[in-house]
Amino acid sequence: MSNNQHTSQAPKNKKKANRQETPSSSIVFRWMTVVMMTITVSFVIFSIVVYKITSRQGLSQQEDVSSKVVSTLDDSLTSIRGELQIANVVPALSPSMRRLLRGGPAITGAKSGSNAFSDDLVSSISNPDISVAVYNLHHEVVFATGNTTPPLPAKRSSAKVLQRSSSGMVLHTYSSVQSNDTGNTTGYIVVANNMSDYNHLMTSLLRWMVIISIVAILSFTIVSYFVVTSVVKPIKAIAKVARQVNQDPNSDVRIKGSRRHDELQDLADSFNQMLDRMQRYIEQQKEFVSDVSHELRTPVAVIEGHLSMLERWGKEDPEILNESISASLQEADRMKHLIQEMLDLTRAEQINVSYPYEVTNVSEVLSRVVSDLDLVHKDFKLQLDLDDLPLATQIQIYRDHLEQLLVILVDNGIKYSTTRHQINISAGVTDKEVIIIVQDFGEGISKVDQAKIFNRFYRVDKARTREKGGNGLGLAIAQKLVTSYHGKIGVESAVGQGSQFKLTFPILTDKEVSHLAELKDRQTTKSS
Ligand code: ADP
Repeated sequence: MSNNQHTSQAPKNKKKANRQETPSSSIVFRWMTVVMMTITVSFVIFSIVVYKITSRQGLSQQEDVSSKVVSTLDDSLTSIRGELQIANVVPALSPSMRRLLRGGPAITGAKSGSNAFSDDLVSSISNPDISVAVYNLHHEVVFATGNTTPPLPAKRSSAKVLQRSSSGMVLHTYSSVQSNDTGNTTGYIVVANNMSDYNHLMTSLLRWMVIISIVAILSFTIVSYFVVTSVVKPIKAIAKVARQVNQDPNSDVRIKGSRRHDELQDLADSFNQMLDRMQRYIEQQKEFVSDVSHELRTPVAVIEGHLSMLERWGKEDPEILNESISASLQEADRMKHLIQEMLDLTRAEQINVSYPYEVTNVSEVLSRVVSDLDLVHKDFKLQLDLDDLPLATQIQIYRDHLEQLLVILVDNGIKYSTTRHQINISAGVTDKEVIIIVQDFGEGISKVDQAKIFNRFYRVDKARTREKGGNGLGLAIAQKLVTSYHGKIGVESAVGQGSQFKLTFPILTDKEVSHLAELKDRQTTKSS
């Protein structure tokens, strides 16, 4: 059934894996879209602003030129009293202007300096961009210069009109002429300015802006593509490794190191460490399950053996019956004990989570445990020496766990004692640590075994230890507990002479004790 589930899930997983390929490429796509849009919008805004400013400046220059022509013409025509006509307009014009009208070259510089028409006007009118027309009150052209005759605007409310023509923008400036004497309108002046410089400037500005924008957008896009892909590449590598490990948790693939020392390399390193740790946990869990099943197999086999013996012959034989029942009960008891120890071992690994702020007075616990054990083991002499331990010595540990540690060590001392039935328990302090020693005078442990006794289910002599009710878990539990509380456990032993187990814990200062008490209070109020 589980097999079927597995096979039916495989293609799904594959599909999922393929689907997971897309997000990294979509990052590139999204990133590129954002970059392109930002650059395009920025360049468009920048170009519009530059174009507008340049255009405004160019136009105001051209308006000045046109206005100057209109006002100078106006100045000389206001002296005419009646309606403007060829007969009165032409004499009012300078010789230079008349030459221009006839199509001759303008008189410039000193020659025209004394004339009513300034050099500016002459040179403006000689400017091929400027066309001037003077109209009478009947809207007939009285005279005109330039290539085209600018028409009289239909609406004469505004003085300046911009018009688009085939060669670009044309500026029409209009003014009515009032006689100085009568104050009546005598005619109209219209100046058309083709603004070829301005039109040329604006066309090339536009062309360059388009070229620069396209080049900038392209180069930014190419550069950011390389940047984005170089950022996404390690992410893709991490995702690939994650997928492979997801498919096969035992796989030893890892993210390859790179020369870059950045956040992504940090992420890759942490990811590799996490994978190593995860695989170590899986391995430990596997070992634990196999150890446990192996340990449970023996008592189950013993009980099974007795039950089948009873089934075959024992029911009628009270001796076999009694023997089998008491043996089975003994094994069941051993199993219960084993299960309790396994639970203790598992719990000992989660101390930091369960009892993070517990503080215990060492001498109090030692005195109590030793007097309790003394009652149970009447045939043993348990000697407690606390001379070197200040009464107020406190360490960070849950009281029950310190008791459990002492019970494990004293029990072992008793279990593995030979002729001399004595256990010495002593405690003392150094600068920063408290040291607790449990000494027995029993069989001792060889150097080779000393290195292994803290391993789960390790027993020096399996058969004999079993007889004594040992499961090989006591010291493993002790080690887990001690390291969880930042302590140390060690052994010194000589075969045939006895062993000495040493526990070391950091002593808490008064400040640390009150800080832990505060934290504990806070935790209790939070949980209540
Ligand atoms: P057990 O429950 O079997 O005693 P432990 O983990 O406490 O398991 O001990 C592991 C092994 O270490 C024991 O089986 C025993 O062989 C050895 N051992 C532990 N304590 C002592 C001791 N005080 N003297 C001699 N051998 C010991």
